[in-house]
Order: sequence, then C-alpha cells, then structure tokens
Amino acid sequence: MQLSIDANTKVQQARMNPWRQIDSTGKGKIRFTPLGGLGEIGGNMAVLETEDSAIVIDVGMSFPDETMHGVDILVPDFSYLHTIKNKIKGIVITHGHEDHIGAMPYLFKELKFPVYATPLALAMIENKFKEHGLSADTKHFNFVTKREIYDIGDFKVEWIHNTHSIIDACSLAIETPAGVLMHTADFKIDHTPIDGYTMDLHRYAHYGAKGVLCLFSDSTNSHNPNFTKSEKVVGKTFDTLFDLAKGRVIMSTFSSNVHRIYQAMERGVKHGRKICVIGRSMERNVETTRALGFVDIDDRHFIEVHEVPKYSENEVLIVTTGSQGETMAALNRMATDEHRHIKLKPSDTVIISASAIPGNEGSVSKLMNLLMKAGVTVRYKEFADIHVSGHAGQEEQKLILRLVQPKFFLPVHGEYNHIAKHAKTAVECGVDERNILLMSDGDQVELTPKYLKKVKTVKSGKTYIDNQNNMTIENDVVLDRQKLAEDGIINVVAQIAQENQKIVGKPVVTTHGIVADKDDKKFAKEIETLLETMMLNMKTEALKDHRNIENEIRSVVRKHVVRTTKRYPLIIPTIFIV
Ligand SMILES: [Zn+2]
Repeated sequence: MQLSIDANTKVQQARMNPWRQIDSTGKGKIRFTPLGGLGEIGGNMAVLETEDSAIVIDVGMSFPDETMHGVDILVPDFSYLHTIKNKIKGIVITHGHEDHIGAMPYLFKELKFPVYATPLALAMIENKFKEHGLSADTKHFNFVTKREIYDIGDFKVEWIHNTHSIIDACSLAIETPAGVLMHTADFKIDHTPIDGYTMDLHRYAHYGAKGVLCLFSDSTNSHNPNFTKSEKVVGKTFDTLFDLAKGRVIMSTFSSNVHRIYQAMERGVKHGRKICVIGRSMERNVETTRALGFVDIDDRHFIEVHEVPKYSENEVLIVTTGSQGETMAALNRMATDEHRHIKLKPSDTVIISASAIPGNEGSVSKLMNLLMKAGVTVRYKEFADIHVSGHAGQEEQKLILRLVQPKFFLPVHGEYNHIAKHAKTAVECGVDERNILLMSDGDQVELTPKYLKKVKTVKSGKTYIDNQNNMTIENDVVLDRQKLAEDGIINVVAQIAQENQKIVGKPVVTTHGIVADKDDKKFAKEIETLLETMMLNMKTEALKDHRNIENEIRSVVRKHVVRTTKRYPLIIPTIFIV
C-alpha cells in the first residue's frame, strides 16, 4: 500500500511542473518588448527578438481620451521598429479586432514586412489597406493554417484556434531559441461556440506537457471571478426579445462580432423578417464574412435600406452600428432624426447587444436618452444575457495556466490593475511569484531558460491620428488645443513706428474663453494699459528686437492673468511695423 501511495505521489509531483524538462543551462536568449496594450486597454503591439531576427505581434490602435481634442484614433509609436527594422522578419497577427490590426495601414506607410494571419484577419487588413491606398501591399500577406508551424526568422510559430468575440481568432505557440512561449492573445473559453469550433485546448495541453518557458495571457477580464458565458446565451435572449417585438427590430452591436450578428440574423429569418444591414463597417464586415463563408444566410433574406418601407414593421430586422453611442454611426443618426432612410417609430424595438467600452459610458448614456425620447422600446442591460464578454474570466485564466503550467508568466492586455490581478491568479495556480513580471509599454525584458528580467526601456507612446484625412496630428497641436480648451486665448496686437521705433497708439487685446463676454472689455482694458506702460518704458534698442517685445508681452500678460484668474491661456502677440 505505502509503495503504491509513494509511487502515485511521485507521479503526481512529476507531472505538476512540466517546465522542469527545459534544460536550464541552455544558452538561448530572447527579448520581449510590448509597445502597446500594457498599462492600457487596446492598442496592442509587441516585439519578440533574438540577436538576428524579430517578429512583431499585432499592430493595433486605441481610442483617445476626452482631452485629446480632434484626435480620432491613437496608433503606437513605431520608433523602436525603425531601429530594428532590418531584423524584423514578419508581423504575426492574432485576430481582426481594431485593437490588434487597426494601426496596420499607418505602419505600412512607414515600414513594410511580411504579414502572417488567418483569412478573416487578413481580409480585414485588406479592407483597411484599400481605404488607405495600399492595395498593392496585400502582396505581403501570408495566409496561415491553424495547427501548422511557420518558420519566421529564429521563431517557429503555430496559430492555435481560440474563441473570442470575433471569429477566426488565434492564440500562438512560439518556439524560440530560449524555449517555447505561449501567447493566448484575446480569448475566452467558449465550450458551445456558434460555429462549433471550440478553443483548441489540445494544443495548449500538447505544448504544456512538453514544457513551456513563458505564458503571455489576456488580462482584460481579470476581475471577473467566474467563467465568461458562452456566446450562445445571447441567442436565447434574442429569442425572447424577437418574440416580444411587435414592430421593427433594430439590433446594434460591434460590427466585428460576427457570431452576434449572425445570431440576430438567424432569429430574424426564423421570425419571417427581412434583414437590412446599415452602417459602413457593419455592411463591410457582413459582406466580407459572407464572402468568406463564415456567415451562411441566403441572399433572399437581405434587403436594401430603401426597400424597408415596402415591408410591414414586423417583417423587418435592421442590423446596425452605433452600440457605443458614436455620433457618426447609423443608430445615433436614426435617434437624432438625421438618417436619410430610417426614422425611429414608437413601435420599434432597439436592442443594444453590447456594453460600453471604458470611456464610452457618456456617449452610450446620451444615446439612451435619445432613444427613450424617440419613444422606442430599448432592450439593454435589463436582460443579463443580452451581451457577453469576449474575454476570459478568472476560471478560464486558471484553466490556461494549469494546462500550460509555465515557468515564467507575463500577464498582458490590460491596465496595471488587470495584470496585477491576473498575476495573483497565476500564483494561486502554482506559478512562482518571482517568475512573474508586471510590465508597461516600452519595458524590454530578457528571457532565458534561467531568468526573466527587465533590461531596458525603449521609446513607446502614441501618435495622434485625424480620421477625416487619415493624417497624423503633431503633439504640439494637441497641446495647443488642450490649452485653448482649458485656459482660453489672448491676442495682443501692437504697432511700432518704423522711423523712431516708438509704439503707435495703445496695444489692442482680445480674449476668448477666460472671462465672460460682459467682463471682457474691462479685462482687456486692464491688460492694454499694463502693456502700454511696459512698452513706453522699453528702451528704443529693446523695441528693435521684435522677438524680445513678444516675449515681454507674454510675460506681462501671463503674470497679470495668472494673478487675476489663475489660468494659463495661450498668448499670441503680433507686432506690426507702421
Ligand atoms: Zn480582440
């Protein structure tokens, strides 16, 4: 008996840390550098490199905060990629979400590399390239097949099917000179996915059993103590909502959530409704996913927007964009009565099958107000399963940690609190606390079979993009806009006579955004008087140097305004020679 107990204990202990099989005297060394997606949600981009080669994992965009006036999107700073461009052998894309591919066209305007991804991700990048006049760059595309291994520089990469809020999403197994790495990318573990293709946990187990040096895992939902629910539960909610709807059904969700859209369309067909897809990104994604065979709904069920009035209200399903309250999106335009074809009616049911992304709560609330005012029936959070997340909760994070049981652990995709929480979960699952690092964008770590340590910091940050013209907005422009918005502006015009370098008349001051209109005259007068005194007291020599006068004006005005209003406005002096 005791012998058997000992034998079993031995086996149990031996299987618990498969990474011990890794030869810890191995000389392989790699570096990992996140350039986006750590310390923030979104904008994911990271670099993995050896001495001679490098791969870039995902090239995503993120959204600005409310202080970045006139900025539509943020793309990661590509400076570091420029410094190592000669050794970059490829870009490895995990899935087609904006925060993983959205910055691709901006990168390709600066640097081009081979791109490796599954078909849907590449189709979505292709759409972006077309918009940016980069159609020819599709020649850099390499379509990958899951479960096959691709040699990219010093790395052997396998795409592993996972489940997420977009189809054709993948995790990665990467064999490197230092050992095997596994990167979950965005994932959840859906045991009943709509297309039947579950997460390929067998490959996780396969690599885990052989010994994984380091696991990189999605931390977005680290605070959820449970399992994230299956996408399937949303379909059940749709059944209830479609049964209740008397008039038109208008469903809005993320345009990339193909299975969500498909589930709504399927319910529409079942209830004898024609489907009308409205909104540029929604139309494009539905077209792409239907063309690739990911969505199998017959043409005869679709109608154009101008055909909607031909059908009775209970025969129409509108699938549209705008679930985040985006002002330019179709749903918002319907709600503000600005949509060319669709006017909301009290008999309509509007289903918002999404939750507000952090930062969008205000705009979603505004949308709710508009929809309620329009008198429609709004279906949102009161149905718990009207939306489910695409990211793993703790129980799924644990399953991955246990399947892989890595030596080192790097929680990724999240702000500090998300990755710190994920690190705690990892410790509970047997990862040594000393083998976990909490990283920020720009941190570079070195990884060998023996150690994981931070070695340096590289340049990281964001480039501001104006979506109207797809152009970069320089940092100083955004700073000026912040100053204008927060502290206002003062214009000073002064005239100097050419013949004797004396000031002509009084300087003229106009201010905006500092004091109320009714007080403006008095306020400007005060400054004018101060400036006049200052300039009259200036030596003729000093008045010759216009840069000097401008600086003096700024200094006098700034002092006065700070003293009287505690504000630091933009001050613009203009000197005329008359
Ligand atoms: Zn994603």
